[in-house]
Amino acid sequence: MSARVIDGKAIAQAYRAELKVRVDRLRGEGVVPTLAVVIVGDDPASKVYVRNKALAAEALGMRSHVHAMAASVTQAQLVAFVRNLDADDEIHGILVQLPLPRHIDSRAVIEAIAPEKDVDGFHYFNVGSLVLGEPAFYPCTPWGIMKMLEHEGIAVEGLRAAVIGRSTVVGKPMALMLINANATVTVCHSKTRDLAGVTREADLIVAAVGKPRMVTAAMVKPGAIVIDVGINRLPDGRLAGDVDFDAVAAVASRITPVPGGVGPMTIAMLLANTVKAAERVAGLAVRAETRIA
Ligand code: NDP
Repeated sequence: MSARVIDGKAIAQAYRAELKVRVDRLRGEGVVPTLAVVIVGDDPASKVYVRNKALAAEALGMRSHVHAMAASVTQAQLVAFVRNLDADDEIHGILVQLPLPRHIDSRAVIEAIAPEKDVDGFHYFNVGSLVLGEPAFYPCTPWGIMKMLEHEGIAVEGLRAAVIGRSTVVGKPMALMLINANATVTVCHSKTRDLAGVTREADLIVAAVGKPRMVTAAMVKPGAIVIDVGINRLPDGRLAGDVDFDAVAAVASRITPVPGGVGPMTIAMLLANTVKAAERVAGLAVRAETRIA
């Protein structure tokens, strides 16, 4: 078997084209969807992510403000800064790039964002809504994966899914979204015994670990769908996912590449959430999945 490669870049491009129409409509109403991004310290990877998000927003005719703060900023200063952004009616979405320096409690900073501006979906209200299966802003990476599966015509209902990784950013919300979509989900992590035994039972595998090529062909059931979230820098500078792509592609029915798979969808969902936040403020119809009480 040779898997069909899911082209996340093309799917994200299609989403962005749809979003552009909605941005134009908003601009026609005098509202420019605006995303504020806060970055603390000078982690090179975070800087690249933030720059890509800002450029993607601007390419759609949205506005983006990037606020870079020194790693020495205090928690109180950062919380006050985010509260100020939150109080600004011209800002529709706020994203604080994680991770933050150790001396800062990320939770305190995220809770300074109103749920309706929390386009990353990390506020307690949005996390709770996801647990309850209610509409809210959902974390962009797993939500992008759900949209990607939908776009590919893959019905998740009834599938056995194995999610490898249980972070609050990817693994846990991914598992919840799959449960809400009626999959039967097993969540695996570093203490899971017989990981391969679990993944070999799965019709759908989502790998979100951060270990290059750790998902091997022997861990995959023939015909399974394999989604690779991992972004790992190899010693030679190239990027690799968590999945041994060539070997697994020979076994799976569908597979996402790295780069060009999940990553572009993550950014597209961030833009979508910001557009929805602006539509809500402008009193335009907001899609059901992001209605916020
Ligand atoms: P974290 O480091 O927060 O979580 C990694 C998870 O993997 C943990 O739950 C950990 O288990 C688990 N794990 C570690 N080793 C093993 C193992 N040997 N077997 C099974 N599980 C294991 O990472 P993130 O969730 O933030 O990110 C995961 C990857 O996805 C990274 O490569 C990251 O760069 C990438 N990423 C990509 C995005 C995109 O847009 N494409 C967005 C976000 C992340 P435990 O909980 O027990 O420690």
